Amino acid sequence: MTKILVIEDEKSVRENILEVLDAEGFEAVGAENGRIGVQLASEHIPHLILCDVMMPEIDGYGVLEALRQDPATATIPFIFMTAKATKADLRQGMELGADDYLTKPFTISELLGAIATRLRKQAAIQDNYNTTLNKATETLNYLVHYDSLTNLPNAQLLRERLCQVLTQANPNQQIVPILCIGLDRFNRINNSMGFAFGDLLLKAVAERLTTCIGGNDTLGRLNTDQFAIILVTINQKQDAANFAQIILDVLSQPFKVNGYEVFITASIGIAFYSGDSGGIDTSLKQADGAMHDAKRQGGNNYQFYTNKINLVSSDPLALEADLRHVLERAELEVYYQPQVNLCTGQIVGAEALLRWHHPERGMVSPATFIPLAEETGLIIPIGEWVLRTACAQTKAWQTVGFSYLRVAVNLSAYQFNQPNLIEKIDQILAETNFNPELLELELTESIIVHNPEAAIEIFNELKLLKIQISIDDFGTGYSSLGYLQQFPFDILKIDQCFVRNITHNTKNAIITTALIQLAHGLNLKVIAEGVETEAEQAFLCQHNCDAMQGYLFSRPLPAAEFEKLLIEGKRLPTQMSRKT
Ligand code: C2E
Ligand code: MG
Ligand code: MG
Repeated sequence: MTKILVIEDEKSVRENILEVLDAEGFEAVGAENGRIGVQLASEHIPHLILCDVMMPEIDGYGVLEALRQDPATATIPFIFMTAKATKADLRQGMELGADDYLTKPFTISELLGAIATRLRKQAAIQDNYNTTLNKATETLNYLVHYDSLTNLPNAQLLRERLCQVLTQANPNQQIVPILCIGLDRFNRINNSMGFAFGDLLLKAVAERLTTCIGGNDTLGRLNTDQFAIILVTINQKQDAANFAQIILDVLSQPFKVNGYEVFITASIGIAFYSGDSGGIDTSLKQADGAMHDAKRQGGNNYQFYTNKINLVSSDPLALEADLRHVLERAELEVYYQPQVNLCTGQIVGAEALLRWHHPERGMVSPATFIPLAEETGLIIPIGEWVLRTACAQTKAWQTVGFSYLRVAVNLSAYQFNQPNLIEKIDQILAETNFNPELLELELTESIIVHNPEAAIEIFNELKLLKIQISIDDFGTGYSSLGYLQQFPFDILKIDQCFVRNITHNTKNAIITTALIQLAHGLNLKVIAEGVETEAEQAFLCQHNCDAMQGYLFSRPLPAAEFEKLLIEGKRLPTQMSRKT
């Protein structure tokens, strides 16, 4: 019932009004002076107050002032009733926040009219307020639970969903698979094409992933380049694996962003959540750990969580702090992965691959810490150390009888753009007395996309030094064939995602064959990366690929072990004849 407080010192007037209001169905309360009025207002919180202006003790203005100061009564509609209504009075009342004036004497219909208008306005204000409040609540809820770029649930909502899934889970569904999907080498795209481009690609990835899931599954974004899926319809290990393979296939189809064709791959970790698996966060961490394991395996694959996988916190800040001391604490080591000639089977060189022996985390993959080293600028001193170490070591091998041995060193975009790059390289070559013709620098396309003019200048200076330039990971990222013609590359490295299953995947086979032909047409040597099977080797050999590296022949090795292979004269068995 609508409650109205009437503050009026003249008894007959007050009782008259109360009677009228009562008859109209309002709950009417009367106060005989201002002090009691203020007190009753805060006790009853009426919907409206009618108040006389001239009263002993506290007058109407005093009442209004007191009410407006108390948050509980501040917004109650307030109508003055007065015989005294000069312009100055009206202004004073309005300034204090009165809503209306009734000039005495007034008729019943004037009184009821003023009350009705005020209550209507108040209802509209309340509606408006409710709508705004609902909207604000909705926005807040959205911000807390969703990722604004992709509109996908964020980590918080994923946790809540996972919790729901388990509480609702039917007795048959005892385990829930959680997939953690990390895009491989995504930082390169941001670095070279800018964040706006990276964002568009992430949106496209989110859309594509959305098409893969069922209505009850949940897809969310965990951080920049990491997504997660909670699968409610699957509870078999093999089904989860099949699903992960579908995701890998779907993501490996090219994306069209701003007119560029972009190729990406992903690494997927799979963990199973069950009532006794130690909590939601543990399961998410396990999926994350398995995903990092997939990255360590070279990306573009999925791995299940096993208790052999180390679950250290992936806190990038802690890692960054440790990274600052790697050089002084001598925690870095260069591994060497043999590159073998596919015709002769002989080791012709090695790719220098960085390793970080972290005192607590064990071996940290370069896929994890190179992006961090780039962000912090530490890649400059680290990169310099790698080049110096690799040149000095290879020089030592050359001196003891392997004079032909080449070494390939990776250079990230950050290093490439450092102002004194050429002088630094020249200085290291001089220091280690290294023949530049036996040094290959591995660069990726991201270096070029950003600033082709600047890149070509640096390329020319490297060529003047007689250094060889490889284009690494070709086939991932932008893969502009035009770059192959425009830039003075010597070697093309076909990324392992094309080499993988080359004998079963027709698309990969066609691309690889075409790339080899194109590269040869442009006088480039071709090295295939990540060769793991004899079938892959045979295919590459048959299609005239020049050299290969991969687990089939050897994993990256510490210097001493690589040296053993050299001394033993280990060779790759070459069984296939070549096409002419
Ligand atoms: P990348 O230059 O494409 O190196 C090839 C990666 O494939 C290496 O991973 C290598 O261990 C791995 N790999 C080789 N053969 C196989 C195989 O048969 N199967 C599979 N699954 N993987 C194989 P790694 O050593 O983890 O290095 C990852 C990336 O980190 C490198 O990719 C390179 O981009 C970067 N990186 C490594 N060392 C350095 C460095 O000294 N400086 C810079 N700037 N980047 C580096
Ligand atoms: Mg490389
Ligand atoms: Mg590579």
